[in-house]
Amino acid sequence: MAKNSILATALANFDRAAAMLEEQVDAELLDKIRRPRERIEITLGPQLGDKKIRTFRAFIVRHSEALGPAKGGIRMTPGVTPEDVTGLAMEMTWKCALVGVPFGGGKSGIVADAAELDKFDKETLVRSFARNAHRHIGPQVYVPAPDMGTNERDMGHIKDTISFSMGQATTQGCYVTGKPVILGGIPGRREATGNGVVICVEEAFKSLGMEMRGATAVVQGFGNVGAIAARSLHELDARIIAASDLYGAVANEKGLDIDALTEHVGKTGSVKDFAGGSAVDGQKMLEMPCDVLVPAASANQITAENAPRISAKIIAEGANGPTSPKADEILNERDVYMIPDILCNAGGVFVSYLEFTQETQQEQMTEQEVATRLRQRMTEKFRQVHELTHERKISMRDAAMYLGVSTVCSAMVARGYLS
Ligand code: NAD
Repeated sequence: MAKNSILATALANFDRAAAMLEEQVDAELLDKIRRPRERIEITLGPQLGDKKIRTFRAFIVRHSEALGPAKGGIRMTPGVTPEDVTGLAMEMTWKCALVGVPFGGGKSGIVADAAELDKFDKETLVRSFARNAHRHIGPQVYVPAPDMGTNERDMGHIKDTISFSMGQATTQGCYVTGKPVILGGIPGRREATGNGVVICVEEAFKSLGMEMRGATAVVQGFGNVGAIAARSLHELDARIIAASDLYGAVANEKGLDIDALTEHVGKTGSVKDFAGGSAVDGQKMLEMPCDVLVPAASANQITAENAPRISAKIIAEGANGPTSPKADEILNERDVYMIPDILCNAGGVFVSYLEFTQETQQEQMTEQEVATRLRQRMTEKFRQVHELTHERKISMRDAAMYLGVSTVCSAMVARGYLS
């Protein structure tokens, strides 16, 4: 396992929480939840548009079901590994527990480059995943959602494929969240993670006595989470002074025009060559002085190497695992205000839970209801973590992990030790 892998980071974060719980929880129980409950590898062999059969690896990990069915997105990237998926599933376990939804932690990975596949081939691959993974997916087992490289459209195809496999026009209960509203999705799910990140940022600003108007922000990753977070910060009159994606980074001290940038990304697929800013180095961009840095791309972007040079006052982890444990220590010593991933990006899974209940109860929530409930829950959880941070003089990450892990342990004790 590489030193700074997603799994290594997840385990390091867990071990610190476990040490805090040593006197309250049996060592055997902590040892048990340090490991995933189930890891599945599937080989997909769809015939793509060129009529050739291509082989793809896919993984599903159910880390814990102490609180309910496993919940977690499907990552489609060329480099995703079973270890990554295990680490991400583990983080989902604590995130669901922390944000107070009755789900366990899960995650899927499909080893493919989503950007390289045309619409038809992507649909073929996603449908192949749904057919082959069908028996591992369901409202009582594992409920996927979008993650890097997958989106609303893919979730619609998963629901449709599973319905057809069952010989039905639809599914009973929620098999997948983050799907189009017309197929039982919920308004505001696509925006929920990015908006949740910004609700946390607003709370952090309040606790530091800072003003949002005119504040500066740098956003890494201009996909689902990053683009929505950028828009939401922009609507609060913050200035987005730089943004990046896999292909490039742009900066403008006066603030990027988010409407124009979104249009440019819609047309070209990247922030690269945006005329409203100048090109900068994506890694150097992370070190730009700013009020808030939102890493919303891949894991392990803030490391021991660049952490000493990070000049943001606040880091709001939109991505999962963007900060290595060593970098975390450095930033903590430097008093950088860190909003940890399991809190900061939990808005997505919270709204997924609303979608799950909406589908079970067969009633449609409005966008306004979703936004109100998201704000209430994120604010409540932020304050709970913040309070514990001050009470126990620990980091926000340790406080969030403590709350998440202890909740899962309580559920395991309540269930008993038979499985
Ligand atoms: P996405 O695929 O929609 O977007 C990812 C963006 O990051 C793209 O713009 C991509 O080009 C960019 N990117 C990838 N690697 C990069 C790098 N090294 N440097 C700069 N940019 C890079 O994915 P997403 O759904 O927005 O997810 C982003 C992160 O947020 C992931 O870590 C994901 O696990 C996490 N997350 C997503 C959700 C959700 O609801 N989608 C929920 C919780 C957490």
